[in-house]
Amino acid sequence: MLRGRWVQGVDLVLRGEADTAFCGIRPPGHHAEQNRAMGFCIFNNVAVGAAHALAAGLARVAIVDFDVHHGNGTESVFQDDQRVMLCSTFQHPFYPNTPLNREHKHIIHAPLKAGAYSEAFQQAVQEHWLPALHLFRPQLILVSAGFDAHFDDDMGQLNLLDSDYYWVTREIMKLAEHHARGRVVSTLEGGYQAQALGRSAVQHIRALMRLD
Ligand SMILES: [Zn+2]
Repeated sequence: MLRGRWVQGVDLVLRGEADTAFCGIRPPGHHAEQNRAMGFCIFNNVAVGAAHALAAGLARVAIVDFDVHHGNGTESVFQDDQRVMLCSTFQHPFYPNTPLNREHKHIIHAPLKAGAYSEAFQQAVQEHWLPALHLFRPQLILVSAGFDAHFDDDMGQLNLLDSDYYWVTREIMKLAEHHARGRVVSTLEGGYQAQALGRSAVQHIRALMRLD
């Protein structure tokens, strides 16, 4: 049976055959809605993974998204499904210019102003994502790992560094160890400056592998 590598990654982690997984998939997915491709995205990979995990019997799945762009597609799929918490940081206002959803308690936005640096990003994660995720107690954490918020990436105007991707992934891992038996599955979203993308992905994967 043919099976997408992303769904296979979710299966491997759910079956305990891997602790964590990173899927270097292109095209990205988080702008794609249920019936509409958008912003380089055809299918919403992370949403397919979350739906797959719910179908496998999980009751609570978290998606965290640190791409420079708002994951409008992922939000549109799960805004009426409280089994999936979506936590995101993104440049705002910016593409895709979706109005901020403040109605749903399981949709946690932490918008960042153009020009924001590491400190603002880390503060947003600590103040907005982590308390909500601890209350939610996810059984699995999926990551929309976009690296286009990097200082060197001209796609956006945020100024994250390689080390921020290690830091945020460690925070995600600590939370997963507490609530989700360490289960984290990550998929590539944006990232358009090849060197910064490569270095940042290495930092992300080092943290997923629990390397110091
Ligand atoms: Zn992006």
